[in-house]
Amino acid sequence: MANTLTKDADKTVKQIHILENAGCEIVRVSVPDIESVNALKKIKENISIPLVADIHFDYKLALEAAKYVDKLRINPGNIGNEEKIKLVVNEAKDRNLPIRIGVNLGSLDKEIEAKFGLTAKALVESALKHLKILEKLDFYDTIVALKASDVPRTIEAYRMFAKLNDHPLHLGITEAGTSFSGSIKSAIGIGTLLEQGIGDTIRVSLSADPIEEVKVGKEILKALKLRKFGVEVIACPTCARTNFDVAKIATEIENKTVNIKKPLTIAIMGCAVNGPGEAKEADLGIVGGKDAHLLYKKGEIIEKIAENEIINRILKELQNEQSN
Ligand code: SF4
Repeated sequence: MANTLTKDADKTVKQIHILENAGCEIVRVSVPDIESVNALKKIKENISIPLVADIHFDYKLALEAAKYVDKLRINPGNIGNEEKIKLVVNEAKDRNLPIRIGVNLGSLDKEIEAKFGLTAKALVESALKHLKILEKLDFYDTIVALKASDVPRTIEAYRMFAKLNDHPLHLGITEAGTSFSGSIKSAIGIGTLLEQGIGDTIRVSLSADPIEEVKVGKEILKALKLRKFGVEVIACPTCARTNFDVAKIATEIENKTVNIKKPLTIAIMGCAVNGPGEAKEADLGIVGGKDAHLLYKKGEIIEKIAENEIINRILKELQNEQSN
């Protein structure tokens, strides 16, 4: 999700380009006022991934925003009376726009909270209530999110909901926290659900630069083999057998290859115990030896090199790979 002021179209477009470049496949912007709505046209015209408008409380903003975006995120229950919801729904229907219902434990419907407490069941009931409003208006092009800030309740809510119906689901652990702890929570929550076949879109929510959200999201998808994207560095955890500085080299290679889009694996292994197996499977690999280190390419040893040559040699091989 972009975190620039949406009304500042230039800044927002710039940020979305950075996110796109990092692998973002769909982007959401907050639309809190009419100035933000007015910026949507320019934003949409200058980006190439689908744009989602996040709107609360004001049906007029939703009506206007619908002209420029690819999806609306609204909660029908907080957008106004039935007449206002109907206007928004008709606009979405006319424009073939899906609506995402985003239920959040931090902003539950008061009635539902009183009945079910802050539970997974409350998230599900709340989503069903919003869905019912749309279905009564004959609108079915919906996607649902049921987010809590803790992992167990989020997983429970999505599982419960997925058993009841087959609506597409948008996954996320909301307000997951800082880059470090939020990434772990998101990986466990989103990863567990995706692994079970639940979920269609994801968002990692971090109190950090949105590029971190995209990077973590991509890593979750890569770890589950749902996306092949960029360089994956496989590195051993090191031990008393390690023959070179694995951590330093692995980190440097990871940093220097962030802009490569082609899916490639590089194994950086400290010794011959697990090294040859991993290096053989990777596109490129290095296995530490006592006096020199073995460079692997596509499963074969191609050279013996010194520690200070490893990074440059691997980068050179990567350049060749990319031009192939
Ligand atoms: S590959 Fe070798 S150096 Fe690396 S952790 Fe395993 S045994 Fe230790």
